[in-house]
Amino acid sequence: MGGYIMQLQNFSVNDGEGIRTIVFMAGCPLRCAWCANPEGQSACNPMTHWMETEEVLKELRRQAIFYRWSGGGVTFSGGEATAQPAFLKELVDALYDEGFSLAIETCGQFDFQELEPTLRKMDLIFMDLKHIDPEKHRAFTGVDNRLILENIIKTAGLGVPMVVRIPAIVGVNCDAAAMEGAFAFLRDNHLDVDLEFLPYHRYGEAKYKELGMDLPSEDFGIPTAEQLDAWTKKAESYGLRVVSYR
Ligand code: SF4
Repeated sequence: MGGYIMQLQNFSVNDGEGIRTIVFMAGCPLRCAWCANPEGQSACNPMTHWMETEEVLKELRRQAIFYRWSGGGVTFSGGEATAQPAFLKELVDALYDEGFSLAIETCGQFDFQELEPTLRKMDLIFMDLKHIDPEKHRAFTGVDNRLILENIIKTAGLGVPMVVRIPAIVGVNCDAAAMEGAFAFLRDNHLDVDLEFLPYHRYGEAKYKELGMDLPSEDFGIPTAEQLDAWTKKAESYGLRVVSYR
């Protein structure tokens, strides 16, 4: 079989260990108001293309020497990496059997029972926590956070190294209630995870214009280095480990 892909990006160093290929899978169940990859929200559109599973595997195998040399591997991202679960499973099963190091970036909105065998084959899992307040989560992303919070807890229990990522966006979640609520959630559930802040950026705006979509709100802002330092110290005061893969 196969599935819809946005692109395969070789020589990435930001989304896991070593030199990696990022497999940008198309489709996403969320509609984040700040999305940097709006072309990945639907599976089939003029900026995505169908690839057979074997075609993707062939491309990835060609990079194997770089992964081996650098301790890198393959990271599944999106859009939402889990939005085409059967395609993802087929890729992951094959790469795992061939000894590739695997990572995934997910928004957390998935069927845990269906995804669990795939998640267990990962060496590193990145999962987003965009807002701790269910109603604000719904307002900014189109869905509430009930399933995502449940999946953070269940996935952390798999024993696979995991990083919870907070996209830090002024005007969305860079206030004490949102940040400290998220820190308390991670602490109070005794989750053995790292925490990473992903500061907001506007690199995706050209794609909005290309797709004829309205730009993200001007009210969304980029946190300063001082604000991020302050949130890092506050998170550490909750007993959390703050990391950066950027
Ligand atoms: S989860 Fe990611 S890809 Fe999906 S809408 Fe949000 S920012 Fe965009």
